[in-house]
Amino acid sequence: MTEMKLIFLGTAGAVPTENRGLSSLAIVRGNELLIFDTGEGMQMRFIKSKIGMNKKMKIFITHMHGDHCIGLLGLLQTLSIMGRQKPIDIYGEPNLRKFIMQNIKIINFKLNYRIIIHTVTKEGIIVKEKEYKITCCLAEHSKLNYSFCLEEFNRPGIFYVQKVKNLGVPEGKKYSYLQHGKDIMFKGKKLISTEFTGPPRPGRKIGISGDTRPTSKLEKFFQNCDILVFEATFSDKETEKAKKSYHSTASEAAILAKKSNSKKLILTHFSARYKKIEKMASEAKQFFKNVFIANDLDIISIPYSN
Ligand SMILES: [Zn+2]
Repeated sequence: MTEMKLIFLGTAGAVPTENRGLSSLAIVRGNELLIFDTGEGMQMRFIKSKIGMNKKMKIFITHMHGDHCIGLLGLLQTLSIMGRQKPIDIYGEPNLRKFIMQNIKIINFKLNYRIIIHTVTKEGIIVKEKEYKITCCLAEHSKLNYSFCLEEFNRPGIFYVQKVKNLGVPEGKKYSYLQHGKDIMFKGKKLISTEFTGPPRPGRKIGISGDTRPTSKLEKFFQNCDILVFEATFSDKETEKAKKSYHSTASEAAILAKKSNSKKLILTHFSARYKKIEKMASEAKQFFKNVFIANDLDIISIPYSN
């Protein structure tokens, strides 16, 4: 069991408002922190949310527009001043490396920890850890934008402890083997793992769009997400504007959530022109019921589906 939650560190699009900072989303998964986008000012929300400065950390940048990446420099510098020592892995398109290295040179700031910049040049798996992977897919925006998915691998099925106990198997290593798919020998008899465990239990899948038009490619990429975080820069009235600027409306995000068979849609990246975001929720709900409007500092827990 690994706890997982989303913390929204910025939910405005392009321009911040009194209540909304620029794009940033943190996923806290066990002891690890995964940050998607670092809009300017996100470090204030980061501090306020008390996530912790010294966790194992990976940062992903969807694209090199200012409202998604300018806050990275401030975050890196603050973490260093606050005494961070653990390295940070940073992922993004080729210009991200230039952006970081040139700024570090010009501003001349030193970091007390190592940063490892991973240049993303193609779609597919970019991170593979023991329990999960992160994949990316090209979106459709005015600048090269990668959408991301965090997908956990299957967990072992439920372990029928009593069934094993009844056979007199002593607790310890043998239990662990059976639970994790290995057959064992006990008193000259072979015990088959699958007879003592339920079917594998699926992990969770979280999708993060960055800035994009809704596309059929993303529909496939986000297939069966437990949570889909999708941009809704515009309300339905501004559909033409959304098309021209390569963004999405609330309804378009909802239709994509439905087509991708996602379980829950969280809308974010709202244009500063809208004072009442609730209206966008009702637009989206015409097409997809389970819609949630993200606000800065919202925390959403993500339980396992079984
Ligand atoms: Zn943006």
